[in-house]
Amino acid sequence: MARVHLTQRTDSYHFSQRRSRFPLHCSVLIFSFLCWLIAALLLIGYLGLQQQRHLPSPASQKRILERHAGQPPLRRLPRASTSKPRGTPLPPAPITPFPSTLEEQIAALQAKDRFFYGGSSQLPEIALTFDDGPNPPYTTQVLALLKHYGIPATFFCVGSQVAAYPELVKQEAAAGYTIGNHSWSHPLLTSLSNAEIMTQLTTTSDIIQRTTGVRPTFFRPPYGALNAQVLTQVNRLGLTTFIWSDGSLDWTMIGPDAISNQVLSNVANGAIILMHDGGGNRWRTVAALPSIIESLQARHFRFVTLAQLVADTHVKAVSQSSLLASADPLNPQGYIRRRSRRVGLV
Ligand code: ZN
Repeated sequence: MARVHLTQRTDSYHFSQRRSRFPLHCSVLIFSFLCWLIAALLLIGYLGLQQQRHLPSPASQKRILERHAGQPPLRRLPRASTSKPRGTPLPPAPITPFPSTLEEQIAALQAKDRFFYGGSSQLPEIALTFDDGPNPPYTTQVLALLKHYGIPATFFCVGSQVAAYPELVKQEAAAGYTIGNHSWSHPLLTSLSNAEIMTQLTTTSDIIQRTTGVRPTFFRPPYGALNAQVLTQVNRLGLTTFIWSDGSLDWTMIGPDAISNQVLSNVANGAIILMHDGGGNRWRTVAALPSIIESLQARHFRFVTLAQLVADTHVKAVSQSSLLASADPLNPQGYIRRRSRRVGLV
Protein backbone atom coordinates (compact mmCIF):
# COMPACT_ATOMS: atom_id res chain seq x y z
CA MET A 1 0.00 0.00 0.00
CA ALA A 2 1.29 3.33 -0.98
CA ARG A 3 2.00 5.53 2.03
CA VAL A 4 2.40 9.24 2.21
CA HIS A 5 5.70 10.24 3.69
CA LEU A 6 7.21 13.56 4.52
CA THR A 7 10.69 14.03 3.12
CA GLN A 8 12.94 17.03 3.21
CA ARG A 9 14.75 18.64 0.33
CA THR A 10 17.12 21.47 0.66
CA ASP A 11 14.62 24.15 1.57
CA SER A 12 11.17 22.58 1.68
CA TYR A 13 9.08 19.59 2.55
CA HIS A 14 7.22 17.53 -0.02
CA PHE A 15 5.12 14.42 -0.12
CA SER A 16 6.46 11.38 -1.87
CA GLN A 17 5.38 7.86 -2.56
CA ARG A 18 8.97 6.75 -2.65
CA ARG A 19 10.49 4.67 0.03
CA SER A 20 9.80 6.09 3.42
CA ARG A 21 12.58 7.79 5.39
CA PHE A 22 10.32 7.88 8.44
CA PRO A 23 8.35 5.07 10.02
CA LEU A 24 4.57 5.35 10.05
CA HIS A 25 4.29 6.36 13.70
CA CYS A 26 6.62 9.35 13.07
CA SER A 27 4.34 10.60 10.31
CA VAL A 28 1.31 10.22 12.54
CA LEU A 29 3.07 12.13 15.30
CA ILE A 30 4.05 14.96 12.95
CA PHE A 31 0.55 15.09 11.49
CA SER A 32 -0.94 15.25 15.00
CA PHE A 33 1.51 17.97 15.98
CA LEU A 34 0.55 20.02 12.96
CA CYS A 35 -3.14 19.61 13.77
CA TRP A 36 -2.57 20.79 17.35
CA LEU A 37 -0.47 23.69 16.09
CA ILE A 38 -3.19 24.83 13.69
CA ALA A 39 -5.82 24.48 16.42
CA ALA A 40 -3.68 26.50 18.82
CA LEU A 41 -3.14 29.23 16.22
CA LEU A 42 -6.87 29.40 15.54
CA LEU A 43 -7.58 29.63 19.28
CA ILE A 44 -5.02 32.40 19.74
CA GLY A 45 -6.52 34.27 16.80
CA TYR A 46 -10.02 33.93 18.21
CA LEU A 47 -8.96 35.14 21.66
CA GLY A 48 -7.15 38.06 20.09
CA LEU A 49 -10.28 38.98 18.17
CA GLN A 50 -12.34 38.87 21.35
CA GLN A 51 -9.77 41.01 23.13
CA GLN A 52 -9.85 43.52 20.31
CA ARG A 53 -13.60 43.77 20.60
CA HIS A 54 -13.18 44.95 24.20
CA LEU A 55 -10.56 47.54 23.36
CA PRO A 56 -11.75 51.06 22.76
CA SER A 57 -12.10 52.06 19.15
CA PRO A 58 -9.54 54.49 17.74
CA ALA A 59 -12.08 57.27 18.24
CA SER A 60 -12.60 56.20 21.86
CA GLN A 61 -8.87 56.03 22.43
CA LYS A 62 -8.60 59.55 21.06
CA ARG A 63 -11.27 60.69 23.49
CA ILE A 64 -9.49 59.02 26.39
CA LEU A 65 -6.23 60.71 25.44
CA GLU A 66 -8.00 64.04 25.16
CA ARG A 67 -9.54 63.54 28.56
CA HIS A 68 -6.18 62.81 30.12
CA ALA A 69 -4.83 65.88 28.39
CA GLY A 70 -7.46 67.94 30.17
CA GLN A 71 -9.73 68.18 27.17
CA PRO A 72 -12.96 66.27 27.67
CA PRO A 73 -14.23 64.15 24.78
CA LEU A 74 -15.87 65.83 21.87
CA ARG A 75 -18.16 63.27 20.28
CA ARG A 76 -20.57 60.44 20.91
CA LEU A 77 -23.48 62.29 22.42
CA PRO A 78 -26.46 60.35 23.65
CA ARG A 79 -29.73 60.96 21.90
CA ALA A 80 -31.38 64.07 23.29
CA SER A 81 -34.83 63.67 24.71
CA THR A 82 -37.57 65.11 22.60
CA SER A 83 -40.24 65.07 25.28
CA LYS A 84 -40.74 67.50 28.11
CA PRO A 85 -39.12 66.35 31.39
CA ARG A 86 -41.60 64.95 33.83
CA GLY A 87 -41.59 65.58 37.54
CA THR A 88 -39.68 68.86 37.46
CA PRO A 89 -40.96 72.38 37.19
CA LEU A 90 -40.98 73.88 33.74
CA PRO A 91 -38.10 76.25 33.06
CA PRO A 92 -38.87 79.93 32.63
CA ALA A 93 -40.31 80.85 29.28
CA PRO A 94 -37.84 82.15 26.70
CA ILE A 95 -37.53 85.89 26.41
CA THR A 96 -39.32 86.95 23.23
CA PRO A 97 -38.42 88.72 21.13
CA PHE A 98 -34.82 87.90 21.97
CA PRO A 99 -32.23 90.47 20.81
CA SER A 100 -29.80 89.56 18.08
CA THR A 101 -26.56 91.03 19.46
CA LEU A 102 -24.68 89.51 22.37
CA GLU A 103 -24.53 92.74 24.36
CA GLU A 104 -28.28 93.20 24.07
CA GLN A 105 -28.94 89.58 24.88
CA ILE A 106 -26.89 89.76 28.08
CA ALA A 107 -28.68 92.94 29.13
CA ALA A 108 -32.07 91.33 28.46
CA LEU A 109 -31.16 88.22 30.44
CA GLN A 110 -29.71 90.24 33.32
CA ALA A 111 -32.95 92.23 33.53
CA LYS A 112 -34.75 88.91 34.11
CA ASP A 113 -32.13 87.58 36.60
CA ARG A 114 -30.99 84.98 34.10
CA PHE A 115 -27.38 86.03 33.60
CA PHE A 116 -24.84 86.66 36.37
CA TYR A 117 -21.22 87.58 36.81
CA GLY A 118 -21.70 87.86 40.57
CA GLY A 119 -24.27 88.25 43.30
CA SER A 120 -25.34 91.15 45.49
CA SER A 121 -22.64 93.70 46.19
CA GLN A 122 -24.60 94.52 49.33
CA LEU A 123 -24.05 91.19 51.02
CA PRO A 124 -20.84 89.48 52.13
CA GLU A 125 -21.80 86.31 50.30
CA ILE A 126 -19.43 84.07 48.39
CA ALA A 127 -20.29 81.26 45.99
CA LEU A 128 -17.65 78.61 45.45
CA THR A 129 -18.14 76.93 42.08
CA PHE A 130 -16.38 73.83 40.79
CA ASP A 131 -16.35 73.00 37.07
CA ASP A 132 -15.66 70.04 34.80
CA GLY A 133 -16.45 67.24 37.26
CA PRO A 134 -17.39 64.90 38.64
CA ASN A 135 -13.89 63.54 38.63
CA PRO A 136 -12.43 61.13 41.19
CA PRO A 137 -10.58 61.45 43.44
CA TYR A 138 -10.75 65.25 43.47
CA THR A 139 -14.53 65.60 43.62
CA THR A 140 -14.59 63.27 46.63
CA GLN A 141 -11.84 65.29 48.31
CA VAL A 142 -13.63 68.59 47.62
CA LEU A 143 -16.86 67.16 49.02
CA ALA A 144 -15.04 66.00 52.15
CA LEU A 145 -13.55 69.47 52.68
CA LEU A 146 -16.89 71.20 52.14
CA LYS A 147 -18.46 68.86 54.67
CA HIS A 148 -15.60 69.42 57.13
CA TYR A 149 -16.08 73.19 57.01
CA GLY A 150 -19.87 72.94 56.76
CA ILE A 151 -20.15 75.12 53.67
CA PRO A 152 -22.11 74.72 50.43
CA ALA A 153 -20.93 74.97 46.85
CA THR A 154 -22.12 74.69 43.28
CA PHE A 155 -20.91 72.14 40.73
CA PHE A 156 -21.08 72.76 36.99
CA CYS A 157 -20.91 69.22 35.71
CA VAL A 158 -19.87 67.86 32.32
CA GLY A 159 -22.52 65.45 31.06
CA SER A 160 -20.12 62.72 29.97
CA GLN A 161 -18.54 62.82 33.43
CA VAL A 162 -21.95 62.53 35.08
CA ALA A 163 -22.57 59.42 32.98
CA ALA A 164 -19.21 58.00 34.09
CA TYR A 165 -19.46 58.86 37.80
CA PRO A 166 -23.14 59.18 38.72
CA GLU A 167 -22.58 58.36 42.39
CA LEU A 168 -20.47 61.47 42.87
CA VAL A 169 -23.23 63.67 41.45
CA LYS A 170 -25.74 61.95 43.70
CA GLN A 171 -23.49 62.84 46.66
CA GLU A 172 -23.39 66.47 45.55
CA ALA A 173 -27.16 66.57 45.23
CA ALA A 174 -27.71 64.76 48.54
CA ALA A 175 -25.56 67.38 50.28
CA GLY A 176 -27.94 70.06 48.98
CA TYR A 177 -25.44 71.62 46.61
CA THR A 178 -26.52 73.26 43.37
CA ILE A 179 -25.69 71.30 40.21
CA GLY A 180 -25.44 73.10 36.90
CA ASN A 181 -25.08 72.23 33.23
CA HIS A 182 -21.57 72.63 31.78
CA SER A 183 -22.23 70.94 28.39
CA TRP A 184 -21.87 67.28 27.51
CA SER A 185 -18.25 67.20 26.35
CA HIS A 186 -16.84 70.65 27.11
CA PRO A 187 -16.49 71.91 23.56
CA LEU A 188 -16.10 75.49 22.49
CA LEU A 189 -19.81 76.05 22.01
CA THR A 190 -19.17 79.09 19.86
CA SER A 191 -17.76 76.80 17.17
CA LEU A 192 -20.84 74.57 16.99
CA SER A 193 -24.06 74.74 15.01
CA ASN A 194 -27.37 75.59 16.65
CA ALA A 195 -28.36 71.92 16.63
CA GLU A 196 -25.05 70.84 18.16
CA ILE A 197 -25.30 73.49 20.88
CA MET A 198 -28.82 72.37 21.70
CA THR A 199 -27.74 68.72 21.88
CA GLN A 200 -24.83 69.57 24.19
CA LEU A 201 -27.17 71.38 26.58
CA THR A 202 -30.14 69.02 26.42
CA THR A 203 -28.25 65.76 26.81
CA THR A 204 -26.45 67.14 29.86
CA SER A 205 -29.65 68.29 31.51
CA ASP A 206 -31.12 64.86 30.71
CA ILE A 207 -28.32 62.91 32.40
CA ILE A 208 -28.28 65.19 35.46
CA GLN A 209 -32.04 64.82 35.80
CA ARG A 210 -31.84 61.04 35.43
CA THR A 211 -29.06 60.92 38.04
CA THR A 212 -30.35 63.36 40.65
CA GLY A 213 -34.05 63.57 39.90
CA VAL A 214 -33.76 67.31 39.36
CA ARG A 215 -33.36 69.02 36.01
CA PRO A 216 -30.69 71.73 36.18
CA THR A 217 -31.67 75.30 35.46
CA PHE A 218 -28.18 76.78 35.84
CA PHE A 219 -25.61 76.82 33.06
CA ARG A 220 -22.00 77.83 32.61
CA PRO A 221 -20.44 77.81 29.13
CA PRO A 222 -17.12 75.95 28.80
CA TYR A 223 -14.23 78.43 28.83
CA GLY A 224 -16.81 81.16 29.52
CA ALA A 225 -17.13 81.40 25.74
CA LEU A 226 -20.35 82.93 24.48
CA ASN A 227 -21.74 84.41 21.32
CA ALA A 228 -25.22 85.40 20.23
CA GLN A 229 -25.85 81.94 18.76
CA VAL A 230 -25.09 80.19 22.07
CA LEU A 231 -27.16 82.56 24.19
CA THR A 232 -30.08 82.19 21.80
CA GLN A 233 -30.13 78.44 22.48
CA VAL A 234 -29.64 79.02 26.22
CA ASN A 235 -32.63 81.38 26.18
CA ARG A 236 -34.74 78.82 24.34
CA LEU A 237 -34.12 76.35 27.18
CA GLY A 238 -34.75 78.91 29.92
CA LEU A 239 -31.34 78.32 31.51
CA THR A 240 -29.74 80.89 33.78
CA THR A 241 -26.12 81.62 32.85
CA PHE A 242 -23.33 82.11 35.38
CA ILE A 243 -19.91 83.38 34.51
CA TRP A 244 -17.65 84.30 37.43
CA SER A 245 -16.08 87.32 39.06
CA ASP A 246 -13.10 85.68 40.76
CA GLY A 247 -11.09 83.19 38.74
CA SER A 248 -8.70 81.06 40.76
CA LEU A 249 -6.52 80.27 37.71
CA ASP A 250 -6.24 76.73 39.08
CA TRP A 251 -6.52 75.43 35.51
CA THR A 252 -3.12 77.01 34.75
CA MET A 253 -1.53 74.53 37.16
CA ILE A 254 -0.13 77.18 39.46
CA GLY A 255 0.67 75.99 42.98
CA PRO A 256 -1.78 75.90 45.91
CA ASP A 257 -0.43 79.10 47.46
CA ALA A 258 -0.74 80.94 44.15
CA ILE A 259 -4.32 79.68 43.73
CA SER A 260 -5.17 80.86 47.24
CA ASN A 261 -3.56 84.28 46.69
CA GLN A 262 -5.37 84.67 43.38
CA VAL A 263 -8.77 84.00 44.95
CA LEU A 264 -8.22 86.10 48.06
CA SER A 265 -6.80 89.10 46.21
CA ASN A 266 -9.89 89.39 43.98
CA VAL A 267 -12.67 88.49 46.39
CA ALA A 268 -15.52 90.91 47.06
CA ASN A 269 -19.14 90.79 48.15
CA GLY A 270 -21.20 88.58 45.90
CA ALA A 271 -18.15 86.95 44.38
CA ILE A 272 -18.58 83.87 42.24
CA ILE A 273 -15.31 81.99 42.57
CA LEU A 274 -14.29 79.69 39.72
CA MET A 275 -12.41 76.52 40.61
CA HIS A 276 -12.16 73.05 39.06
CA ASP A 277 -12.68 69.56 40.44
CA GLY A 278 -12.36 68.01 36.97
CA GLY A 279 -10.62 68.42 33.64
CA GLY A 280 -7.22 67.33 34.90
CA ASN A 281 -5.13 66.73 37.99
CA ARG A 282 -6.69 69.00 40.63
CA TRP A 283 -4.62 68.21 43.69
CA ARG A 284 -3.49 71.85 43.78
CA THR A 285 -7.09 73.05 43.98
CA VAL A 286 -7.83 70.60 46.78
CA ALA A 287 -4.67 71.65 48.61
CA ALA A 288 -5.56 75.34 48.29
CA LEU A 289 -9.15 74.99 49.53
CA PRO A 290 -8.56 74.93 53.32
CA SER A 291 -6.59 78.20 53.36
CA ILE A 292 -9.12 79.85 51.01
CA ILE A 293 -12.08 78.79 53.12
CA GLU A 294 -10.46 79.67 56.44
CA SER A 295 -9.28 83.08 55.18
CA LEU A 296 -12.72 83.96 53.81
CA GLN A 297 -14.41 82.82 57.00
CA ALA A 298 -11.97 84.93 59.03
CA ARG A 299 -12.99 87.87 56.87
CA HIS A 300 -16.66 87.13 57.69
CA PHE A 301 -17.77 86.13 54.25
CA ARG A 302 -20.68 83.71 54.12
CA PHE A 303 -20.62 80.79 51.71
CA VAL A 304 -23.80 80.17 49.70
CA THR A 305 -24.90 78.13 46.72
CA LEU A 306 -25.58 79.97 43.49
CA ALA A 307 -29.26 79.35 44.07
CA GLN A 308 -28.98 81.29 47.32
CA LEU A 309 -26.85 83.96 45.67
CA VAL A 310 -29.58 84.49 43.08
CA ALA A 311 -32.29 84.55 45.74
CA ASP A 312 -30.36 87.24 47.60
CA THR A 313 -29.57 89.34 44.53
CA HIS A 314 -32.11 91.99 45.35
CA VAL A 315 -31.83 91.82 49.12
CA LYS A 316 -30.97 95.27 50.35
CA ALA A 317 -32.46 95.21 53.84
CA VAL A 318 -29.08 95.24 55.51
CA SER A 319 -28.20 98.11 57.81
CA GLN A 320 -25.04 100.08 57.29
CA SER A 321 -23.78 99.05 60.73
CA SER A 322 -24.27 95.36 60.01
CA LEU A 323 -22.61 95.81 56.64
CA LEU A 324 -19.61 97.40 58.27
CA ALA A 325 -19.58 94.71 60.91
CA SER A 326 -19.58 92.01 58.27
CA ALA A 327 -17.36 93.76 55.76
CA ASP A 328 -13.99 92.39 54.95
CA PRO A 329 -11.58 93.90 57.49
CA LEU A 330 -8.81 93.72 54.93
CA ASN A 331 -10.99 95.47 52.41
CA PRO A 332 -13.57 97.51 54.35
CA GLN A 333 -14.98 99.06 51.20
CA GLY A 334 -15.30 95.73 49.56
CA TYR A 335 -19.02 95.54 50.08
CA ILE A 336 -19.57 98.59 47.87
CA ARG A 337 -16.84 97.74 45.42
CA ARG A 338 -18.11 96.27 42.20
CA ARG A 339 -15.60 94.97 39.80
CA SER A 340 -16.08 95.66 36.16
CA ARG A 341 -17.20 92.28 34.99
CA ARG A 342 -17.12 91.37 31.39
CA VAL A 343 -16.96 87.99 29.91
CA GLY A 344 -14.54 87.30 27.14
CA LEU A 345 -16.88 87.70 24.21
CA VAL A 346 -15.99 85.03 21.73
ZN1 ZN B 1 -15.07 73.96 32.15
